[in-house]
Amino acid sequence: MASFHAVIIGGGGTGAAVAHDLTLRGMKVTLIERGELTSGTTGRHHGLLHSGARYAVKDKESAVECIEENTILRRIAPGSFELNDGLFVALTDEEAAYSHELVEACYDCGIPAKRLTREEVLAREPNINPAVKLAVQVPDATMDAMISFGVSAVMRAPVFTKMRRPSTKALNDGSLTSTISMPELDRPAALRIGRA
Ligand SMILES: Cc1cc2nc3c(=O)[nH]c(=O)nc-3n(C[C@H](O)[C@H](O)[C@H](O)COP(=O)(O)OP(=O)(O)OC[C@H]3O[C@@H](n4cnc5c(N)ncnc54)[C@H](O)[C@@H]3O)c2cc1C
Repeated sequence: MASFHAVIIGGGGTGAAVAHDLTLRGMKVTLIERGELTSGTTGRHHGLLHSGARYAVKDKESAVECIEENTILRRIAPGSFELNDGLFVALTDEEAAYSHELVEACYDCGIPAKRLTREEVLAREPNINPAVKLAVQVPDATMDAMISFGVSAVMRAPVFTKMRRPSTKALNDGSLTSTISMPELDRPAALRIGRA
């Protein structure tokens, strides 16, 4: 029986991406999911690769993290995105005025944002609300990356689904220790997993 280097619990986007990454680094990985792959939150997400623009004015730290992750994901998961950008559409004078603050905040966070005139917006999106005054274009995208990582995990690592839940207890340092019975692995494995 092979001894596995990493056991990942949870076959959502996070677990699948970690499995994808570790297997590419040559590590052996086992992925365990109590339901079906992506049956948790991942199966319900909207598929938006955030540019961070929606956080740029009020939460710069999150905005910077988003654009950094956005850039990394485009590089490491090519083909998983429809690079269709995002438009913040101004329908009122007040929203049009806010676009200056938005573009400036994006610039501060390293998010390439661009103001489009009404004509440019309509040329790009002819079916948009004709009352549009202008829009701010940001590098959002539509993604299948979480699915891609799941496929990669299935192709590169043993994946066990519908496993029994591990019995878990908290340790004094706040981390969790779990024991899970893995019949397919022919022996129980003691796992140390980080705090959630
Ligand atoms: C409505 C909605 C829309 C969203 N839209 C977006 C979006 O557009 N873009 C974006 O980036 N993010 C979006 N998100 C957030 C995104 O979906 C989550 O951040 C992401 O899916 C979290 O992935 P995860 O792998 O950490 O968690 P999950 O997908 O929940 O995966 C955890 C997995 O672990 C399994 N599990 C748990 N406990 C055990 C156990 N003891 N044993 C075995 N398996 C276990 C669960 O069954 C589950 O499959 C959205 C979220 C929601 C709710």
